[in-house]
Amino acid sequence: MYYGFDMGGTKTELGVFDANLQCVWQKRVPTPREDYPQLLQILQNLTLEADAHCGVKGSVGIGIPGLPNADNGTVFTANVPAAMGQSLQGDLSRLIEREVRIDNDANCFALSEAWDAEFRRYPTVLGLILGTGVGGGLIVNGNIVSGRNHITGEFGHFRLPIDALDILGADIPRVPCGCGHTGCIENYISGRGFEWMYQHFNHESLPAIQIIANYNTGEPNAVAHVERFMDVLAICLGNLLTILDPHLVVIGGGLSNFEKIYQELPKRLPQYLLRVAQLPRIEKARYGDAGGVRGAAFLHLSER
Ligand SMILES: [Zn+2]
Repeated sequence: MYYGFDMGGTKTELGVFDANLQCVWQKRVPTPREDYPQLLQILQNLTLEADAHCGVKGSVGIGIPGLPNADNGTVFTANVPAAMGQSLQGDLSRLIEREVRIDNDANCFALSEAWDAEFRRYPTVLGLILGTGVGGGLIVNGNIVSGRNHITGEFGHFRLPIDALDILGADIPRVPCGCGHTGCIENYISGRGFEWMYQHFNHESLPAIQIIANYNTGEPNAVAHVERFMDVLAICLGNLLTILDPHLVVIGGGLSNFEKIYQELPKRLPQYLLRVAQLPRIEKARYGDAGGVRGAAFLHLSER
């Protein structure tokens, strides 16, 4: 059995998956705000409860909103202060007497999709989250590619490509990013970026859902905005495709529900790719919020 914990700032969810990768048991509890021993206790209790429920000792994976530090075994997770800077992997592993694997929640999202019954045939899967920010992960043969600093998949922080300046104008503001740099694509192609761009060009602040509703009625400002956005999205994704050349791209996050993306990207991408490039399959994520526990549980899957 595979146990996956999706640890968030307010809730921690456990999903238990059987050998067919089907979820057989789930439980959700509040995440302690500051108390690290209490956090460990909760994770230990849930694990033992799952063991009792399943009659076996399952493997344990944890997805965190942050980054594990491969060098000293601590975790960096500003959204879960109780775990920040703690050796969560080692401490929990000792308590529950088994190996614990920890990874970033965006990587877990990508891993969850890559192990979908239909998607697992693809050797290279790029998971892209277009939510409040932009993130994702790269899965090769069913395994997360982490990189030296565990930042593979932090796609949101590469800077606007030169083609995007042709679309947006060379004087487009280089929006300051949470990472400390300016002009990161996260500030333009995330859900937040979608709204920022609309406001920048139309001098009117509207929520994404309203902009999309206006687009669907053919309102000219919204139509021009979506045209612009799809071009910039294609340019940014095109650069990722040229670097990574995945077989499958899975898009998650709030903007993934904008179905127009799946019609527009295949039309707009080729002009930004090498001429020999075949487009990857581009799909909407299938697991939504459940991707967190799935991906965490699947940290213990390797061969396929
Ligand atoms: Zn950034």
